[in-house]
Amino acid sequence: MTVLCRSRYATMSMYEFDPKELLRPAFPGLEEEDLVELASVAEICSYPEGAVLCHEGDYGDTFFLIVEGEACVSKYLDEENPRRVLHALGPGEFFGEIALIQGGTRTATVDSEGPITVLQIHRDSLVRVLQRSAPMALRLVLRVTSRLRDADQMAIDDLRQINEELRRAYHNLERLDRAKGDFISVVGHELRTPLTVISGYANMIKTAPAVRDDVNLNLFMDGITTSIDRLQAIINSILDVSKIDTAALKVRMVPTSLVVLINEIEAEFRDVLEERQLVFDAVGIDRLPYIIADSDLLYKAFYHLVVNAIKYTPDYGQITVSGAIVQNEADGDVIEIVVADTGIGIDKEHHELIFDKFYQTGEVMLHSSGITKYKGGGPGLGLAIAKGAILAHGGRIWVDSPGYDEENLPGSRFYMHLPLTEWKG
Ligand code: ADP
Repeated sequence: MTVLCRSRYATMSMYEFDPKELLRPAFPGLEEEDLVELASVAEICSYPEGAVLCHEGDYGDTFFLIVEGEACVSKYLDEENPRRVLHALGPGEFFGEIALIQGGTRTATVDSEGPITVLQIHRDSLVRVLQRSAPMALRLVLRVTSRLRDADQMAIDDLRQINEELRRAYHNLERLDRAKGDFISVVGHELRTPLTVISGYANMIKTAPAVRDDVNLNLFMDGITTSIDRLQAIINSILDVSKIDTAALKVRMVPTSLVVLINEIEAEFRDVLEERQLVFDAVGIDRLPYIIADSDLLYKAFYHLVVNAIKYTPDYGQITVSGAIVQNEADGDVIEIVVADTGIGIDKEHHELIFDKFYQTGEVMLHSSGITKYKGGGPGLGLAIAKGAILAHGGRIWVDSPGYDEENLPGSRFYMHLPLTEWKG
């Protein structure tokens, strides 16, 4: 009989145990000749504490029956739980059969808890006896299914626990998000009041003769009032976003002319468009009907999209706002407004994320904080407000752009679909 103990720790004590008598209780009902065959190819080996008898994922061709000592069965879950203990095995119990039946790869790791003695049988001999002996095959199948059931139960328990942890983390995040929203809203309101006072005084000082007649002082005051306007715009955006977040946004639906809104936007940016030599075109908007909408909210949405088109398009570029009635699969006839530019474009991976508050692509080198300067940057709130405003109308908003490229300027197209709530009044 060839006896090969696989572990370098293994020592043999062949004469102490009778393999046939060890196998008999493990496989009751096994024919005597099968017991004899198995016993004849069995090896008895001893291993010290911590020896790895099976390693998860490794190829295995040996079946083990514990004679003396204990072993621990464990599985790798993830980096945080590299060793999830499944169960302990003691004398009379066997392991390593699943790899033999399933085709070679160990499904778990088994290591010795202390010094251990095992009876080992090579795959070929075991399979030969299995093919002949129904009771042994049945016993092995029962053992395998019971182990699989244990593993299933363990996985279900793990999932339950993870689910519970996720639920708690989600509630915690919700609570923190509410606290953050409240904080932002309170700070916004607190800042707005003194800023309004400062703005009032600054405008008064600007008109005072001593300042008006002094070119330098006049320049300084312009700087101050421009910065105050910018601060006010940021605070208003923060308050808008916090209203959208807390669902405190009030929608006031009134008959609304889209052409009037777009004309107002154009008027708002006329000086900037001229300064930056940008062409602004409105196409088809004048053919759109009056709709029932919240004109303030729609104004905000268009405002932020056009500010962005200005910010992310270099001088001499083109901004086009077009409108049409189109059909979309989900809603039928809708009003489609598209704000298109010939600017730096946006990579696909950011197309959804840019509508989240405070999200910026990180691809734009922020040159200055001016609201309409090329690549002027901002707090990352404009698109979140535009999205909130369009969703409040039951509409949809998305962007299409071939990608980000400051050299070739592929441009971006922001689409809005609004319900066709035509006003016939
Ligand atoms: P911000 O205040 O940073 O402009 P927004 O929410 O308005 O915040 O936009 C988020 C990001 O989306 C911007 O930082 C920019 O990277 C990108 N973006 C928005 N509009 C455009 C556009 N028309 N062209 C290119 N990039 C854009």
